[in-house]
Amino acid sequence: MPTSPIRTGIDFSQPGRQLGSLSVPYSYNLSGWSQLQIPMATIGHGEGPTVLVMAGNHGDEYPGQIAIMRLLRELHDEDISGRVILIPALNMPAAKASTRLSPVDGANLNRSFPGDPEGTVTQIIADYLTKVLFPMSDVVIDLHTGGRGVYFFPCAHMHLVDDPAQRQRMAQATLAYNTDLAFLYSDIAGNGLLPVEAENQGKTVVTTEMGGGEVTPRAVHKLSQQGLRNVLIHVGVLVGKEETRASLGLSPTRWVQALDKEDYLFAPESGLFESLVDVGGDVTAGQPIGAIHFLERPDRAPTIIEAPSSGIVIAHRGPTVTQQGDIAFCLAHDVPDKIIDTFTSVKVET
Ligand code: CA
Repeated sequence: MPTSPIRTGIDFSQPGRQLGSLSVPYSYNLSGWSQLQIPMATIGHGEGPTVLVMAGNHGDEYPGQIAIMRLLRELHDEDISGRVILIPALNMPAAKASTRLSPVDGANLNRSFPGDPEGTVTQIIADYLTKVLFPMSDVVIDLHTGGRGVYFFPCAHMHLVDDPAQRQRMAQATLAYNTDLAFLYSDIAGNGLLPVEAENQGKTVVTTEMGGGEVTPRAVHKLSQQGLRNVLIHVGVLVGKEETRASLGLSPTRWVQALDKEDYLFAPESGLFESLVDVGGDVTAGQPIGAIHFLERPDRAPTIIEAPSSGIVIAHRGPTVTQQGDIAFCLAHDVPDKIIDTFTSVKVET
């Protein structure tokens, strides 16, 4: 089995604080022997779980990158019980370029798992996570937004994994983000996702969609940062008192899901997209929720996008300029009680 070409000066067997990077060999036209640097920090102290915290899987998703950089500077070694591994910008070339896809090889890191140690830069990064960082971790946290393409209602989200104990761990950690909505999603855009690889390795996987676009409201930064700290307390790697929705004076988190392909609506034509409903808004079947306007035919009535079913708008398109086939809406529905029941009690098959 070929080994990863990635090198790091960080010694994972050592306690204390180490700041370094993952060095990925690559070439470009002005350097045949470059080392692409992905900054990484570890803090190990006492006994406890290993928690891998990452953002910048997509480069144009900012609140998580900022939350992890803050954490890296603010955490004291004695706050840790176990080990945290912090990577603020996992897809460093994309983060520097503010792009979803890597400018080095054009790849989407979140479609590149399990990766390939002999592949492109993006495949090499994915392979290193799959073979080195995931196996040493108990908890894998991957912080997203909708990028510049999509605006999400700020929420934590997860896959409905089959293993009952893993599902319960993931649901409780997802709830520890203390978001208004928690979202069960499906993979409509293909395979090779980072969280799926970590789930397949049995990890407690926590992911978020903290809005999107270039503007991050103060409240979303605050939610991203406070939620992350609370999840770290919840999983036992950070000392402190865990906050709950109740202790914050908030109503319980509402679980919603978009698990059918009909829940993902695509622009039927190219034009200027106008959302008729904000994210977080409840809609009824047949309700007009979006309009596509036509610059070259201002006299033409806009094409209306209707909700195919009742639900809640969890996400809509970000940029106004829209091409036919771009994702326009994601419509979510309340999660059935019988599923929510599996988040708090592990059912033993008899
Ligand atoms: Ca994303």
